[in-house]
Amino acid sequence: MTTVSDSVHEAAEVLRRGGLVAFPTETVYGLGADAFDAAAVERIFAAKGRPSDNPTIVHLASADQLARVAARVPATAAALLEAFAPGPITVVVPKHPDLPSVVTAGLETVAVRIPAHPVSNALLASFGRPVAAPSANRSGRPSPTDWQATFVELDGRVDMILRGAPSMVGLESTVVYCAEDEPVILRPGAVPAAAIAEVLGLPVSAIEHGPGAAAADSVAAHSPGTRHRHYAPAARVQIVQRRGEQEDTQMSSGTIPTGQRALDCGYIGLEAPSPGIRFRLSMQCPSPEAYARELYGFFRTCEDAHISTIYCESVAEDGIGAAIMDRLRRAAAATSAE
Ligand code: AMP
Ligand code: MG
Repeated sequence: MTTVSDSVHEAAEVLRRGGLVAFPTETVYGLGADAFDAAAVERIFAAKGRPSDNPTIVHLASADQLARVAARVPATAAALLEAFAPGPITVVVPKHPDLPSVVTAGLETVAVRIPAHPVSNALLASFGRPVAAPSANRSGRPSPTDWQATFVELDGRVDMILRGAPSMVGLESTVVYCAEDEPVILRPGAVPAAAIAEVLGLPVSAIEHGPGAAAADSVAAHSPGTRHRHYAPAARVQIVQRRGEQEDTQMSSGTIPTGQRALDCGYIGLEAPSPGIRFRLSMQCPSPEAYARELYGFFRTCEDAHISTIYCESVAEDGIGAAIMDRLRRAAAATSAE
């Protein structure tokens, strides 16, 4: 039985008893357990159907807890946390030997972050210990960004859903590998690569995701999550390009259905869909930030409406645009393979 509650105190009690609590963060909702309770963390993998080789992110109330989970904190990781935490940044650092290996899927590194949502932060402060928490979706599905979507994903599989305001960012955190001299962005998020490079005073490379990307073994080993199917709704996802600027704001219509067929489809983007196309569901987002915040919810709305294909307009890959395009490519690749 899954309880839905507003009580941070009750949720902390559930964690103390070795239970599972889904809770809001500013990126997406997470599914948490006491990071030092190996049996509880194993239940996260079971509840999500998550492959055991995909490590979780350890959530901290503050940087004071770092020494409990990290063997050392490289200067790059310290600088990034100083600049962007609490917030949507995750640093990968050498793991503390006492942290159960199930948390890190057997890796010698641990991913840590300090979230920035009033409810997650109250829970972490009340519990007082590090919390292992991947996103609160069943494995391979889009992350939930509100408590209702979390309930749909996990009802009956977890002990409690701690209710709070929807996630403000809407996409998962930027993950930066900091365990070696050269930092590498393993997953783009709301903290953009340019801001990371500026803080570090170094050029920062990003691993390539998606179809056609050269997935070097060493990179895959750094970021096990990139090997798995991800972020895919039940509908097919197709990315559509905007036309060149001189051709006003119409989308390229090459792949977009017209007439009756569009009635079975959804559309999300920064531009309004072309006037001749009537989608069953469409959402025009006023900014890239709004696009990021709404994307997964729109996927779910389309699923509920049994939409066959969701057309997603591409955006410029700067700022949060890089994270939007990363998730769109993965969703498109996962849904086209079926
Ligand atoms: P999720 O919170 O569900 O988005 O999943 C956590 C993400 O962080 C996954 O993509 C993991 O592969 C990544 N991650 C967690 N721990 C590590 C680690 N030690 N090294 C590299 N990536 C990690
Ligand atoms: Mg996830």
